[in-house]
Order: sequence, then structure tokens, then C-alpha cells
Amino acid sequence: MQFELEAKKSLGQNFLKNTTIIQKMVDSCVKIATKDTIVLEIGPGTGALTEYILKTGLETIAIEADDRAIPLLTEKFKENKNFTLIHEDVRVFDISNIKKPYILLANIPYYLTGYITRKFLESENQPKAMIIMVQKEVALRINDKKSSLASLGIHTYGTPRILTHVSKGNFVPAPKVDSSVLVVENIQRDLFPNKELEATYWELAKKGFGNKRKQLGGTALKGTTHAELTQYLKKRPEDLQVEDWVKIAKIYTEIGK
Ligand code: SAM
Repeated sequence: MQFELEAKKSLGQNFLKNTTIIQKMVDSCVKIATKDTIVLEIGPGTGALTEYILKTGLETIAIEADDRAIPLLTEKFKENKNFTLIHEDVRVFDISNIKKPYILLANIPYYLTGYITRKFLESENQPKAMIIMVQKEVALRINDKKSSLASLGIHTYGTPRILTHVSKGNFVPAPKVDSSVLVVENIQRDLFPNKELEATYWELAKKGFGNKRKQLGGTALKGTTHAELTQYLKKRPEDLQVEDWVKIAKIYTEIGK
């Protein structure tokens, strides 16, 4: 059987060919994994990364949307008891079905970076860590704490760092831009003692970033006269850090009571 696929642009398929980078991603996962940890891979494609994950003996659940990849992956890993393949779009995947602590380790399609990070970090069943391929520009923004909604999400729930940069020539077909492997550790939701605060936090942040050139006094904080909030009225969402949004959300949940 031929373990190759003709890349589909609509599925964000850029296959990673450099095994040194694959090994680096897997090594970083092994360092974080404990005895009961499993791996969740989104978009195994032809199984290049999967093969290296399975070599470590870690149990692996892989979710793949491409119909063409399913027989190929089934055949390739048919002898491996640690491998479970789910033929599904990750956007409909129910995270509560994962019953063990897990690490999200994947070369995810770029068109879903924001969606996937938010879905998993905000879920009740958060991963222990994420090791994901993202566009270099996105990784640098996150690393420099330059605020965007995606960056805020990562800093709210975890501690990010760049594992390595990956130039576009390491993929087939080569994407237009370079990439980086982002590691997010210490994932938790300790900032939010209750759901209400978390919901208010995101409601306000989304309002702010929805119109990010505007000052917050005209968007998320419109109409407020609260003394502790006046310092933020002339600021833009990118000027604020996680602590600022938490402070604002705490005041808003108190006002709402
Ligand atoms: N893991 C392979 C590698 O490293 O070479 C492939 C990575 S490729 C960048 C992205 C993978 O995600 C492809 O296999 C693609 O079919 C899959 N994919 C794209 N959209 C998806 C979705 N909505 N749900 C699940 N998988 C998806």
C-alpha cells in the first residue's frame, strides 16, 4: 500500500517531512507525559508524526477528517494496540470522550489554529499540555505577549514557549510562511473560581478585540463609570494583559449581582 496522499489545500495539508523536528516534538511530549498520560493527535494525515509517537509506547488517539487517510492509517498501524483512529472533523469531536489525562500533540492545519486552541483550552476536559505547529508569526506574537484574542487565550490558561522554528521547506507542499512549534504547559483555569467569571471575561475580551482599533471606552467598557475602570477607558485591547482582563471581569460580575 502507498502511504502517500495528494495534498488537499482545503484541509490545510502540508505534510511534515523533517524527522528531526518530528522527533523533537515527540521528545518534548515524553518529557511532560506521566504514567497515565495519553496523546491526542489532530490530523495524523499519512501518520508521519503518529509513527514516532507510537514508538514511545504512548497510547494515542488520532482524529482525522480526510476520508482518503482512513484506510491508509488503519493499514499502517493495524498491529498497534495503542492506536485509536477517529474519523471525524475535530470541530464536532466531543472532548469529554477522552477519559485519561492527555497531551495534544499535532501538526494542526493553520486554518484551525485559533479554533482548536480555544476549543481545547476552554473545555471542561483541558489537555495537560499542547505541542502544536503554528505559523511563526502567531508563535512570536504569543511569545512576546502581544495581545490578540488567540494569544490572550493561551496566556489565560497556560504557559507558552517556542520549542523550535520550522522553515517552510520542511513541509510538502511548502506553505507560504514559516512555522514554529509552540509548547503550552501548566494548563489550568485557576484564574476563574467560577464559570460566571470566566464567561464574563470572554464576553468582555471578545467585545474589545471585536473592534481592536477602538478604545475600550467605546467597546467592552462602554457606559461604565466605575472608578477602578476609568484607567482602561482610553486603552485598546492589545494594551491589556491577562491580569487586567481578570480585574475588569471581576468588577463586572460584582456589578451584575
Ligand atoms: N500530521 C501530518 C503531518 O504532520 O505531516 C499532517 C498535518 S497537515 C498540516 C493537517 C492534517 O489535519 C491533515 O491530515 C488534514 O487532513 C487534517 N485536518 C484538516 N482539517 C481537519 C479537521 N477539521 N478535523 C480533523 N482533521 C483535519
